[in-house]
Amino acid sequence: MPKLIGFAKGRYYIYLDDIPLVGHIAFGVIDRCANIIQIRPITLCPYNCIYCSVDAGPFSKHRLSEYIVDPKLLVRWVKHVYENKDRDVIEGLIDGVGEPPQHPNIVEIVKELKEFLPRVAMETRGYTLTKKLIDQLAEAGLDRLNVSIDTLNVDKGKVLQGVEWYNVEYVKNIVEYIVKETTIDVHLTPVWIPGLNDKDIEDIIEWGLKIGVGKKYPPFGIQKYEIHRYGRKVPSIKYVGWEDFRKFLSKLEEKYGIPLYYKNLNFGIRRSKCYRNPFKKGDSISVTVVAPGWLKNEVLAVEEKHMYTITITGLEWNSSLIGRKIKVKTTEVYNTICIARLD
Ligand code: SF4
Repeated sequence: MPKLIGFAKGRYYIYLDDIPLVGHIAFGVIDRCANIIQIRPITLCPYNCIYCSVDAGPFSKHRLSEYIVDPKLLVRWVKHVYENKDRDVIEGLIDGVGEPPQHPNIVEIVKELKEFLPRVAMETRGYTLTKKLIDQLAEAGLDRLNVSIDTLNVDKGKVLQGVEWYNVEYVKNIVEYIVKETTIDVHLTPVWIPGLNDKDIEDIIEWGLKIGVGKKYPPFGIQKYEIHRYGRKVPSIKYVGWEDFRKFLSKLEEKYGIPLYYKNLNFGIRRSKCYRNPFKKGDSISVTVVAPGWLKNEVLAVEEKHMYTITITGLEWNSSLIGRKIKVKTTEVYNTICIARLD
């Protein structure tokens, strides 16, 4: 059973060391039938970005639990998924609904993944990195850091990241150190919030080109601000659709002579064999409840026959549920994700 390691301000803190690591969106391994797999070691995040699509950070309104995955279990499951995809995987991308470098064993995870994955990359917002941690990650074999910086302006950075202690100057120094002193490549991934950081995106591109990000991989991947059901919404900005997003990037692509739109970026990604998802929408299945869910009114359960973790929605957490066997009906099944409700 997952272990409860803390409870504060209405949120459970849970260590996952014996649960299937496929099935959930917030932790474990996600396969989307491509030759890249997503690896999610931790849901915790210290920031409160004003546009956060996954409602992370201390001011989260919807989260019920934060999870930390045992490093050995995580690597074992990544290897299992990799082998079930006939080893047709070129990259393991450590990402998630939190800040991955905050995992206490992140160096060990990278080192062990590099023993069988050709390429390991990690997403970060940068402020949780130190030069010491960077050196350790480089030594462990990390190939690339995708660093999200949305502005080079110190005050605006505090507003966008939603915390007073965030200082983009520190992140700039760290990125410059990575580029100059290590073998880790940097791919900058600012989020464009129309009307709020238009010019900042250009500043980031000019700075990134000047310091030499993107030695082996595309230097930039501009992210689109999207509104999600449980995400945070930026008040009073004009929502921009994909066509306008493309137009905004086309102008910058022309100006700087580099690809920026995600479809124009070459990471060598293509379709590959899918990891099995034995369920389809509407299936009735038996599961065992193991822990509080990620969001409020959710619980975590395990389907033992196929070794899948299932999110059950519409069920309020109560510790007497632990170990209980219940019947559920799947409501959403996609990639390696499975969500269900009481049958
Ligand atoms: S956008 Fe990323 S860094 Fe910002 S609060 Fe959300 S998960 Fe954390």
